Amino acid sequence: MPEPSKEEIKQRWQRFFDEPEIAERIRAVAEQFPNQRSVYIDYHELEVFDPEFLSDLMDSPHLFFRTGEEAILDNVPAEIRETVERHPIGIHLRLKNAPRDAFVDIRDIRHNHVDRLISITGIVKRASAVRPRLLRGVFRCRSCGHRNTVDQDPFSPTMKEPIVCVKEEGGCGRNRNSTTFALEAGASDFIDSQTIMVQESMEGLRGGAQPQNLNILLEDDLVGLIFPGDRVRINGILRGRPQRRGQEKLNKFDLFLEAISVEQETTDYESVVLTEEDMEAIMELARSPDLVERLRSSIAPNIYGYTEVKEAVVLQLFGGVAKESPGGSRIRGDIHILLIGDPGTAKSQILREVAAIAPRGIYASGKSASAAGLTAAAVKDDASDGRWTLEAGALVLADLGTACIDELDKMSPQDRSSMHEAMEQQTVSVAKAGINATLRCRCSMLGAANPKRGRFNRYDPIVDQIDMPPTLLSRFDLIFVLTDIPGDKDAEIADHILMVHQVGEARKQREKKTLDTSIDMDELEEKERRTSPPVDKDLLRKYISYAKDNVFPVLTQEAMAAIRDFYLHMRELGRDPENAIPITARQLEGLIRLSESSARMRLSPRVEEEDVKRALSIMNYYLKQLAEEGGEYDIDRIMSPYSHKQRGKALDLRNMLMEMIKEEPGGVPEKELFEKARERGFSDSEVEKLLGKLNASGEIYKSREGKYKVA
Ligand code: ADP
Ligand code: MG
Repeated sequence: MPEPSKEEIKQRWQRFFDEPEIAERIRAVAEQFPNQRSVYIDYHELEVFDPEFLSDLMDSPHLFFRTGEEAILDNVPAEIRETVERHPIGIHLRLKNAPRDAFVDIRDIRHNHVDRLISITGIVKRASAVRPRLLRGVFRCRSCGHRNTVDQDPFSPTMKEPIVCVKEEGGCGRNRNSTTFALEAGASDFIDSQTIMVQESMEGLRGGAQPQNLNILLEDDLVGLIFPGDRVRINGILRGRPQRRGQEKLNKFDLFLEAISVEQETTDYESVVLTEEDMEAIMELARSPDLVERLRSSIAPNIYGYTEVKEAVVLQLFGGVAKESPGGSRIRGDIHILLIGDPGTAKSQILREVAAIAPRGIYASGKSASAAGLTAAAVKDDASDGRWTLEAGALVLADLGTACIDELDKMSPQDRSSMHEAMEQQTVSVAKAGINATLRCRCSMLGAANPKRGRFNRYDPIVDQIDMPPTLLSRFDLIFVLTDIPGDKDAEIADHILMVHQVGEARKQREKKTLDTSIDMDELEEKERRTSPPVDKDLLRKYISYAKDNVFPVLTQEAMAAIRDFYLHMRELGRDPENAIPITARQLEGLIRLSESSARMRLSPRVEEEDVKRALSIMNYYLKQLAEEGGEYDIDRIMSPYSHKQRGKALDLRNMLMEMIKEEPGGVPEKELFEKARERGFSDSEVEKLLGKLNASGEIYKSREGKYKVA
């Protein structure tokens, strides 16, 4: 097929611009010029006008856009035309709102997409600083003083200088070897330019695949609008640029997209499309009497037990309601959960499964090697020619979703310092190398951490046992300890793991059609049912997206009274200065969030008593597990190195025992220590616990004769 001539294309544009609506749009932009420099056209409008025109345009976009912009100039009112013509940049023609079939997955981009109009979608991972790019250089000849103008190549990182001082334009005709040229920046034209890197969305990724990236060139009025963490749809022309080795150009090409238009996803879950059938399934699920049970057993069905943890995770997936005050301050609705526990207790497994279910879920490790880590960092970037670039870490990429962060205790010192802000204000601020930005990370966090010394023990405060500051621990709404103690559950866990494996094996056998007839199929089917999620992943994700997007429950009077009663009752216990502080306002906020998310899970516009009940039972489980001491709650057991009661007393006892032991190089008999402590009012169990602790930490040891000595 012969290429249409430029004149033909221009005429086709002109017919389109004659449509009254479009003509009006061009005039409106022209009247605001140069404050407005872009005429936006919808793909749909062009398609309705002439489907063939649109498909021709997508094949040779460069020519079509250039002629389109020339044609626009013909439609600008006469009195403005001169201003536009004299302006170095002029009016852009931009196409937006691409149909679904125009989108190409970043990982599917191939050489035949080069120089074509394509649309991509993804998360902005990096955004460089905005810098001027030379558009048209004015170079003065050092021999004769003549000024030569050279249009620059937008895709080359280097500046194009004149080859000769052009005689026909009044220059001296000397070439580069016999004269030199000096750039006159003041007389040259510049355009604002920015490079961003877009990473394909996690949603479409098969397990374990590394997400792929594409660099995007944004210019003029498109710059400065997009930040790392934003979800975007970009229409543009795919360009190839030869890779370089020093001065040499190689025959391999780097790809990047020259953006024609950039759209930010405005509603939270636009990427999840709900059909009528989906809506029916969602409503049916919401009506099921055993909703909670079904949702809970759909979280990591391969993992035995952890009922409370799984229920808490379900609530986390829905999340409470974020509130914005008119003054601009914000209270988070997201629920943060931390799992600490012995190695091999399925923490990593749970995190991975949750990341796969959660809309916008991300799994990352605290000790990941990437420069941006968990929060964000300023890095030098090759794609933007060595400029400083802001790169988003896992929490920013999980904006409006769930970040599952494994090995949280191993995070970098830099992440450690920005984590407080990230968890409470849900922003990450970066101020480095001229980049000054605040990124949003409105995600819930499911963290996992291992105890510092191998295994968790239930006597010591948790702050002593994991490598995280108490201030950070207090940001978690719920903390669960997963312990691995040999005992009564061993048989069940073993059976469950064996069952999971057997079902997997049988599935494989069926796939490969080598069926062994001696297997009891009924029993196997029953087992298969028990190890597969009652609600499948796809529906669960849609259900959550729908709830988060459409359900914003409000506390009822009864629910408020129930939360208030619980809080006041607990606080009353702490009134006596001798007593510990059972809970703080943080737990109160946590309860509100959990209650809201329970209502959301039911798709209920109201937070009712049953929601508060559910929230209280989870909160109680958490406090009982970690804050209980002698039948009472003591929040300091979680948030500070010593429980409130212990703090003063424990130090006394410790000092006393250590002094006694130090003074006696031959060792002190156990009996003597107990007697002395008893005189001072300490119980035997307190002494026993402390001796155990000092022994475990290696400060003292027990000799064969049963005497304690300094190590
Ligand atoms: P962690 O991250 O806590 O060290 P992992 O997630 O790596 O532990 O789990 C180790 C293995 O043990 C996994 O394969 C997991 O499936 C299995 N496992 C541990 N606890 C359970 C359980 N309660 N039910 C089923 N499998 C379990
Ligand atoms: Mg692990």
